[in-house]
Amino acid sequence: MNPMNSTRIKVLSFFGIFFLTSLYYHVWAAAIVFGVLTILGYFTTSKESNKEWEDQEAHGDMDLEEHCYYGDELNFSNETIISILDKRFPFYNSLSPLQKDKFLQRLVAFMITKAFKTHDVKGFKEMPVLISATAIQFSFGLEEFLLPHYEFIHFYPQEFIHTRAPDKYIEGNVSGRSINISWKHFLGEYQYPDDGQSVGLHEMAHAYYYQNFVSKEETDKDFVSGFSRYNNTANKIFELEKKPGNDLFSEYALKNFQEFWAESAELFFETPEAMNGAYPQLYSSLRDLLNQDPLNNIPSMIR
Ligand SMILES: [Zn+2]
Repeated sequence: MNPMNSTRIKVLSFFGIFFLTSLYYHVWAAAIVFGVLTILGYFTTSKESNKEWEDQEAHGDMDLEEHCYYGDELNFSNETIISILDKRFPFYNSLSPLQKDKFLQRLVAFMITKAFKTHDVKGFKEMPVLISATAIQFSFGLEEFLLPHYEFIHFYPQEFIHTRAPDKYIEGNVSGRSINISWKHFLGEYQYPDDGQSVGLHEMAHAYYYQNFVSKEETDKDFVSGFSRYNNTANKIFELEKKPGNDLFSEYALKNFQEFWAESAELFFETPEAMNGAYPQLYSSLRDLLNQDPLNNIPSMIR
């Protein structure tokens, strides 16, 4: 079902009540007028809800309202999506023409199933495209990529307050059915695709883990079976990295195994040489788990 935005609900309720009242009292002329207004209201609010995506680029304009955009109402053309990917998404540019088609199809399929919410910042068309592209990059070698557990993607302009620890500012997290991202960090880190940091890939690692092991809807059987091999190797390296002299992973990654997993995914995509150099078994377990080999620029292998 296509969920409605709040402006549309208000307009339809307003004219709809007059329409139904006119019908009830058999005032046919009024019923026709309010019927037409209800239909017009439906279409004009649909356009209005998406017009802010049209011509803007992300540069941090502040606007203190919250906006909600439904992926299936965005109607971005393929040209628009491709121009954003060309400009900002190196992974897409490294693909063959056939793989680009697959990437685009998956991206659109993913985007139309999500609702995108912006907080204190206007909706830029790059937001739904680039966050969907990040999910597709992460899952490009997998069968299941839609993350049906996650209905909402929230964009905050910068670090935001953690709901469970109110005094703590974070760059991203997953909670309930939402993936939450600081746009400033997301975009900033995409400018440096090989610095080992990507809040987008980090949160996707949490989300795909949760999808497959906790919510267990539409699980990917290869991801689930590959994870046990990763788990065995990663447990040893998790302990090794706590010792002085081993510093591929950040201190934050050593907080718990979930964070270690999420940072493994960042390093796997962003600095595959460093990971393979330090821990070849960890690299190969992730290569088999995600069915991708970024070290050799192979985005999707044949199992
Ligand atoms: Zn994390």
